[in-house]
Formats: sequence, structure tokens, C-alpha cells
Amino acid sequence: MSVVDRQEWDVVVVGAGGAGLRAAVEARERGARTAVICKSLFGKAHTVMAEGGIAAAMGNVNSGDDWQVHFRDTLRGGKFLNQWRMAELHAQEAPDRVWELETWGALFDRTKDGRISQRNFGGHEYPRLAHVGDRTGLELIRTLQQKIVSLQQEDHRETGDYESRLKVFQECTVTRVLKDGGRVSGVFAYERESGRFFVLEAPAVVVATGGIGKSFKVTSNSWEYTGDGHALALLAGAPLLNMEFVQFHPTGMVWPPSVKGILVTESVRGDGGVLRNSEGKRFMFDYIPDVFKEKYAESEDEGDRWYDDPDNNRRPPELLPRDEVARAINAEVKAGRGSPHGGVFLDVSTRMPAEVIKRRLPSMYHQFKELADVDITAEAMEVGPTCHYVMGGVAVDSDTAAARGVPGLFAAGEVAGGMHGSNRLGGNSLSDLLVFGRRAGLHAAAYAAELGERPTVDSGQIDAAAAEALRPFSAEGHIAGAEPGRPPENPYTLHQELQQTMNDLVGIIRREGEMREALKKLADLRVRARRAGVEGHRQFNPGWHLALDLRNMLLVSECVARAALERTESRGGHTREDHPTMERAWRRVNLLCSLTDPTDGLAATDPVRGQIALTREDTEPIRPDLLALFEKEELVKYLAEEELYE
Ligand code: FAD
Repeated sequence: MSVVDRQEWDVVVVGAGGAGLRAAVEARERGARTAVICKSLFGKAHTVMAEGGIAAAMGNVNSGDDWQVHFRDTLRGGKFLNQWRMAELHAQEAPDRVWELETWGALFDRTKDGRISQRNFGGHEYPRLAHVGDRTGLELIRTLQQKIVSLQQEDHRETGDYESRLKVFQECTVTRVLKDGGRVSGVFAYERESGRFFVLEAPAVVVATGGIGKSFKVTSNSWEYTGDGHALALLAGAPLLNMEFVQFHPTGMVWPPSVKGILVTESVRGDGGVLRNSEGKRFMFDYIPDVFKEKYAESEDEGDRWYDDPDNNRRPPELLPRDEVARAINAEVKAGRGSPHGGVFLDVSTRMPAEVIKRRLPSMYHQFKELADVDITAEAMEVGPTCHYVMGGVAVDSDTAAARGVPGLFAAGEVAGGMHGSNRLGGNSLSDLLVFGRRAGLHAAAYAAELGERPTVDSGQIDAAAAEALRPFSAEGHIAGAEPGRPPENPYTLHQELQQTMNDLVGIIRREGEMREALKKLADLRVRARRAGVEGHRQFNPGWHLALDLRNMLLVSECVARAALERTESRGGHTREDHPTMERAWRRVNLLCSLTDPTDGLAATDPVRGQIALTREDTEPIRPDLLALFEKEELVKYLAEEELYE
């Protein structure tokens, strides 16, 4: 039996991005002893990289804005597949969450009359993104960290121990959620530096681990985003919702190759930047879909006038939702009208003075100067789509963030599904983290407090988790279907093959044959990954860490591929070349992924059966008073006949 350290907490939060930290603050404030555990350094999460801002209908720049307009925009962006109750709560509560950040010390950019400034972003009818230059996520995390420190100081005054009620375990990775019967009982984790295993026992666990981008070759995501929380929930028995919806942000860097995929914020377009092809044409005017025709400018003149007079002009099509812009760029490149390095041109240099560019987009100016030797005040950037965000995620209850089917498990932030439907609007993630991070913390704390008897951690599960984590050190062909004695596989090679497979076969434009091929490759990679072997010891060993992450990436990739194959329509972040239109009947369908029988060893090797079972479920009908916020003519474009009738 393994001997591992155990500690008891009321709530464990896995992840220290915006969702995790907001959940931890709330849980601690509600009286729960709360532990936060994060894979990288405290303060280094995707949230910190968020540039554009937090979407909240505060109406500071245009008083026409309110939660109903925000709700409408969010549903349009998600093509009406959003879990509508989440979208409602999000739109209603986001302004309070921004105000709250300000009371905790965040310093947002201001309007001339001293209010929190708000900027334009794709798909948002009014200027709505509260921001701090193009470094909003940094301010959000800084503020939440400061809040955590202040709570720890409070605890020190009362108990003599800073970490008595709120403790951060940084550079530690959770590999399993532990259970007592059906309920959560804690997490199993390892310390990256020492390789030491430990267990945090807790009746409530909030998963807030962010995205899955590292399964794709070209991505804006950094090394930690290997879909861990998605996989942890799946392995614990919670289904994942609509995993086919992966957002390819239209503007990632395309050159030089070493930085391919790094994000170019949408604020560049929100502040006036335009997209041109190799012929110098603003091509987005050719790509306005019917459902959006009435809302977007027909001419460059009208689009340009909108920046100064939004009440009497329509917005330029560069500000269409991300899925539309990404597809348009893809089509231009495919038609041979791309830039020299396979993207298109994004230009601010001819649109605003150099000093304004440097003031409003300081990070972008530095990013291009340092990484590509391009001065964006003098020349256009080259940009193309990059895997950015996953809309699919853990199926949760809208109000409580409780994961479906596993008492004690909660999920918030990018790892949770539903909120954004088939496509997320820019800026709606930071607000999502705050709204649902708070709700997850609140309900996790309440769940832990109300529980009569604490669940116990079974040492057999700890042993199994430890054995699983140690397997890469003794990788031999010892699994069902594998040839004995074959040499171990290199985790880096497997990862590269996985990324290439997902990029090429389940990427921005999808086809049935390619996705079937992807499933075969994933089955092969699954078998090989179980022989992923590493040398050396447990002290800081990145090859070992990657070997463990592969399990998660393979599970999540299979979910994406299976769901994408099943959904025979194009909607939001899911584009099928063989089914190019959005089908109203599919709006009624959610796809749920769950684990196939884990004792069926052969399923892993069989591409047809695989590890993931898909089920269809009807979407919950949208509440009538919310539907009444839309014109009937618009609803006809999205809702199935019987829904309209109802
Ligand atoms: P993250 O901030 O991603 O944090 C996840 C945490 O989980 C990290 O602490 C990580 O270490 C930890 N973790 C992961 N796995 C494990 C594990 N196994 N064990 C322990 N810990 C684990 N959205 C907007 O709304 N506006 C923007 O302007 C914007 N700009 C963006 C710019 C970039 C470059 C990127 C990449 C994203 C941007 N987004 C933006 C999206 C947004 O930043 C993310 O969706 C959001 O920050 C996710 O937050 P989160 O709290 O869910 O997770």
C-alpha cells in the first residue's frame, strides 16, 4: 500500500485561473476550509493571458445596453444552443462581478467622465468589454490573488496561521478525483518538483482547469491546457456536453513558425483594425451570413462610420462572431488570396495614429515587434485561425455548477459546458469565470456544510492512482492487445502525432471520412500511449508529466471527434464540409459523452467502440419570456417548427 500524505479540507478547487480563484474566495467567505491546487505557478493561468476584456452590460458607453441585450447577443453567438439559464444568469450577474472586482482593487480603464470604459467586440451589440488596455486578465488575476492574500491575513489574525482556511498548492497536478461510493471524497495529486504524491480529502471538489487546446497543433493555449478537468470529470462519472464545439479564433500569428498560433486579440478589430486579402480587399463584406445580414454594414463607408456613430450605422463585418470570421479567412486562403505565410492581413497601421495603437494595444505592439520583427504601427499583421477555446465541457446544473451525476463535483469556467452554446463571444469567458466561479464556490461550500457524514477516502483507490501515475517508469507491453516486449513509446512523439491528427482531421473544417480516420489514429495512439515510457526519476520530469497528460488529451480528443462525427450540420465552432448548413432540428439536440465500460480492456483498442459512448438528449425548451426578447422573424431562423409552435 502506498504511503501518501493526506490532508482534510471542506472544498478543494482544482485550478487557479479566474474561475478557480473566484470559487475559492466564495467558498472561504462562506466558511468552508478551502484548498486551491494548480498545475503551474500561482498566477500563471490562461486567465492572465486574456487581453480584450470582460463582457458585462453596464451601459457605461452606450446606455442602450442591458442584460437582455447581452443575453440576446450571447444566444445569437452560440446559435441558440446555449444552456439558456446559464446565459441568463451570466448576463444578469456579470456587471455585479465587475463592480465587485473594482471594490477589491482592480483598476479598469475609464471613460472621459470617469466610469469604467467598455470596448467593442465581435457579436456584442454595444461597447461592452470592461478592460485594462489589452492586459485585462492580468488585472483580474492580480485582484483575485490580492483578495486571497487579504483573506489569509484575516485568518492569520484569528488563528495565527495564514493557511488555516485557505491554502494554495502550486505546481501540483491532480490526476484523479477520488470517490466514496458515488460521492466525491477528494483528489489524488503529485507535486511537479519532487514527484511526491499526496491526497486532499474533501467532500466537495470544484474543477476549474480551463481548456483543451494542447491537443491541437496550432493553438493559442499554453502547455497546461491538456483537458485535465474534462478527463477528471469523465473518469469520475460525469458526462461531457457538446464537445464538438471547439473555437478557432480567427486571428492567431502565422509567422514565424515558432510562434504560430499565438493570439492576436480581437480588440485589434474592435478598435478599428480591418482584414484584407492579398488583393487588398476587405473581404469580410462577402461573408455576412443571412442570419446576420440586417445587423452588419453593407459598405466600408457605413462600417467605418459606425465607430463614431453606432446609433445610425451598422457594425463592420470584421466584428462578426469568431466562427464566421475564422471560416472566411480559411476560405480566402484556400482560394489563393492569402498572405505570404498562409494567413490574411490585419491592418491597424492605416486606421489609427501610431501613438493610439501603442496606447490601446501595447501588448500587440510588443508581441509583433519582439516575435516577428513587425511594427504594427507601420505595416499589417499576418494572421490566421488558431485553436483557442472549447465550448463543450462538463455537463453542469445552470444555477449551482454541480456536475451531473456525481454528488460533490462542481465545474466552472472553460471546463464547464453549456454557457456558450456552439460558439463563445469574445469577452464572455472572463465574465463566465466570475459569475459561475462564484456560484460553484458558493454551492460547493453549502454542499460540504450540509453533508451529515464526511465521505472517506479508500486506500485501494489511492494505490490504483499511484500505480497509474507510476506506469510510465515501467512501460512495457503489458496491456490487453499489445505485443509484449515492445519498446516504450516516447510521449513527445505521441503528443506531436495527436496534435497533427486533431489539426488535420478534426480541425476547423470537418469531413466524415477524415473524422473516421482520426478515430482510428486515436485508437492506435491510445494503445501506444499506454506504453509511453520515461527515463530518470520523479523529481521535476516534464516527460513523465506529459506521459500522464496524454491520457487526458486522448480522452478529450476522442470526445471531440465522436461528437463532431455525429452532428451532421454546421453550427458555430463546428463546420462540416459535407453538411454545410445549420439545421433547425439539430438545435434540439445535445450530445453527451461518457466513458464506456472501463473494465472492457479491448474497447481502448477498437476505434469503433473506443472509450467514449455518445448519447443524444433533448435541449431544455427556452423559457417563453426569454424567447419574447427576440423578433419572431429571427427565431424562425433558429428554432425547429415544433418549438415555434410550442
Ligand atoms: P484557466 O485560467 O485556464 O486556469 C486553469 C487552471 O487550472 C490553471 O491554474 C492550471 O494550472 C490549472 N490546472 C489545469 N489542469 C490541472 C490539473 N490537472 N491539476 C491542477 N491544476 C490544473 N476570454 C475573455 O473573456 N476575454 C479575453 O480577452 C480573452 N483573451 C484570451 C487570450 C488568450 C491568449 C487566451 C489563451 C484566452 C483568452 N480568453 C479570453 C479566454 C479565457 O482567458 C479563458 O477561457 C479563461 O481564462 C479560462 O479560465 P479558467 O479559470 O476556466 O481556467
